Amino acid sequence: MPIYSYSRVNTFSTCPAQFQFRYIERRPSPMAEGIELFLGSRFHETMEFLYQQLPLRVPTVNEVVDHFKKHWGYQWQDALKKQKDKGFKETLRIVQEGPTVEDYFQKGLLFTENYYHQYHPFDQDQTEGIELKVAFNLDPKGQYKMQGFIDRLGRDAEGTLWIHDYKTSSRKMSEDDARNEDQLALYQIGLSQSPHYGPKEKVKLLWHFVAFEKDQVVSERSPKEIDRLKEKYISKIDIIEKAKSYPTKPGVLCQWCEYLTVCSDGQKWVENRKKSAETQFSNGKNKSEPVPAHPLSMPSPTVPAEAVQSVATPIAPPQNPQTDLGPLSAQTSSSDPPFKPSRKRKALAGVSPDQLSLF
Ligand code: SF4
Repeated sequence: MPIYSYSRVNTFSTCPAQFQFRYIERRPSPMAEGIELFLGSRFHETMEFLYQQLPLRVPTVNEVVDHFKKHWGYQWQDALKKQKDKGFKETLRIVQEGPTVEDYFQKGLLFTENYYHQYHPFDQDQTEGIELKVAFNLDPKGQYKMQGFIDRLGRDAEGTLWIHDYKTSSRKMSEDDARNEDQLALYQIGLSQSPHYGPKEKVKLLWHFVAFEKDQVVSERSPKEIDRLKEKYISKIDIIEKAKSYPTKPGVLCQWCEYLTVCSDGQKWVENRKKSAETQFSNGKNKSEPVPAHPLSMPSPTVPAEAVQSVATPIAPPQNPQTDLGPLSAQTSSSDPPFKPSRKRKALAGVSPDQLSLF
């Protein structure tokens, strides 16, 4: 049996065909990387850079913002090369109509600055791990194995461990939704089985929705809830292991699926959806409705009121105002070698609404 990840398990629930393409056939994506993943990855790298510096010094906001800008530039160059080598029709895939690559870049700058000013001097807890790998068993015999990566693990002054997760999505999960979000709770199981931590640690789960002024969503799990979670994932894995076929499951997520160009069912679904949206629009129905957000940003069917507030409003004036956030084209510096993130974040385009692991 393979070692499962949260994404691997939930991709099967989202669409068995996508699971087959990605995990069984290991097909490379025939399309360019999605812009949401690209932005999320750059933000995660920036957080990694920030918290790596902290034991020695607190970097300035300009250094952190520069890091984001430079590495956006490096990765943009990589994306251009991939486009050329693989014949993608675009450098980065943007599903939503309207926003441009530059818009996403500017968002990323704003998220970075806002996070910096909100948490400076970053003494809320002491970082114990960044992109920390956790590997664990769901059953006592160790037949059901899982693994994952914690964005950041911190320990506060009271001794509580905080599992931090960064989200750049434009919708925010409610506290209620967080109670049903499994990913970080699975990582808690990982910590409980780690020789460094163990089951007696007090653990809190913390999502940072960095597009929001109040970015934090906090949750915790009781031992009983953790036991139920293990059972839930054992039965999900059993279903996957017994699968004899991998049917398509077309739906809203097809628009973001990296295999859309090779999936006729998904293409039909997207076409029909477009037609129905156009019909509604021409009948004057949907005129005031907002453009749907990336599905990774829809953690639940019920979206809290705060989720529709404007995103990325600066939360505090910079003490050292950032005067040169620069154009997209001016972000690389030959004197600064590309930062190597500790882990390449994997593309997951068509994931279920509760799969918030990427951003
Ligand atoms: S396009 Fe839709 S139906 Fe096809 S594999 Fe992707 S998610 Fe599944």
